[in-house]
Amino acid sequence: MYLRPAGLDEALAALANTKLTVLAGGTDYYPARVGKPIDDDILDISAISSLRGIHDERSHWRIGATATWSDIIAAELPPLFDGLKLAAREIGGVQIQNAGTIAGNLCNASPAADGVPPLLALDARVEIAEAGGSRGVALADFILGNRKTLLRQDQILTAILIPKPAHSARSHFTKLGARKYLVVSIVIIAVTLEVDAGRVSAARAAVGAASAVAQRLPLLEAALIGKRCDASMREHASIEHLAPIAPIDDVRASREYRMDAGLTLVRRMLRELGRRA
Ligand SMILES: Cc1cc2nc3c(=O)[nH]c(=O)nc-3n(C[C@H](O)[C@H](O)[C@H](O)COP(=O)(O)OP(=O)(O)OC[C@H]3O[C@@H](n4cnc5c(N)ncnc54)[C@H](O)[C@@H]3O)c2cc1C
Repeated sequence: MYLRPAGLDEALAALANTKLTVLAGGTDYYPARVGKPIDDDILDISAISSLRGIHDERSHWRIGATATWSDIIAAELPPLFDGLKLAAREIGGVQIQNAGTIAGNLCNASPAADGVPPLLALDARVEIAEAGGSRGVALADFILGNRKTLLRQDQILTAILIPKPAHSARSHFTKLGARKYLVVSIVIIAVTLEVDAGRVSAARAAVGAASAVAQRLPLLEAALIGKRCDASMREHASIEHLAPIAPIDDVRASREYRMDAGLTLVRRMLRELGRRA
C-alpha cells in the first residue's frame, strides 16, 4: 500500500488504523534498504502542506516537519539560526538537501545526525501528533538512543519549535570528518550564545557523533555565563567540560581523539562567536 494524503487528519487516521511506515524525503529510508525487498506499506507525508514552511509565531519559530535542508538555507532567519544553516549546508550534497527533511533527520535518530546538536543548542522542542491530538516534547527527551525515539507507530512528528531568546543571540556549528563533504562526522559541535551588555547571559552547547545520542554540555554552559563575549571566550573551555560525554571509540576515531578534537572545535567556535560580537 502507498498512501500520499494531502491532509494531516487523513494521514493520522490512516496511521491509527494500519501499520504504515512514514516516508518524507526518503534519503535515510531508501539507503537503509539497499539489497533488501521494500515491502513496507508507506505513508508518504510530502504532500501535506501544513507540514511545510518556517513560521515566526511570536513566542517561538515553527519549522514544519517536511521543511527540507534547502528550505532552511533559503529562509530569512535571524543570527540565532546561523548554526542550523551551517549544518544544513553540510548535509550531503545539494540533491540530499533538496529532498531530506529536518524531521526525517531527527526521527532517524542517527548518533551522527547533523541536525541534532544545533537544535539542542537552540533548546528545540518537537511537536508529536496522533489521531487524538498533539503535544510538545523537548528534543533532548525525544531521542532515546541509537535509532530510537519516543515516536509510536501511530504518530507523526509535525514540527520543530524553537523558543525566542531573551537577548540578542547567535549560534555556530562545525563538524569534523575524515574529509570535507559526504562523510559521517567524527565529532559535531554546536553552540548558541545570548549576549546582554557585552556579556553572555545564556549559553547552550551540544556535541554529536561522540555518543549514542548528542548531548548538551552543562558544565561548559555554566562556565560561560557572565563572561565577556569576545575572542578570549575560548579560554573558558576546558577538557573537564567535555568529560561527561564519555566519547565512543569506533572505526572513525578513538575516544581520546574525539575529546581532543571536541575541545579544539569548541575553543575555535567560542573565539569565532566572540569575534562576531
Ligand atoms: C548521500 C547521503 C548523504 C547524507 N549526508 C548526511 C549528512 O551529511 N548529515 C546528516 O545528518 N545526514 C545525512 N544523510 C541522511 C539524510 O539525508 C538526513 O538524515 C535527512 O534529513 C533525512 O530526511 P528524510 O526526509 O529524507 O527522511 P526519510 O528517509 O524520509 O525518513 C527517515 C526516518 O524518519 C521517519 N520519519 C521521517 N519523517 C517523519 C515524521 N515527520 N514523523 C515521523 N517519522 C518520520 C521515517 O519513517 C524514517 O524512519 C545523508 C543521506 C545520504 C543518502
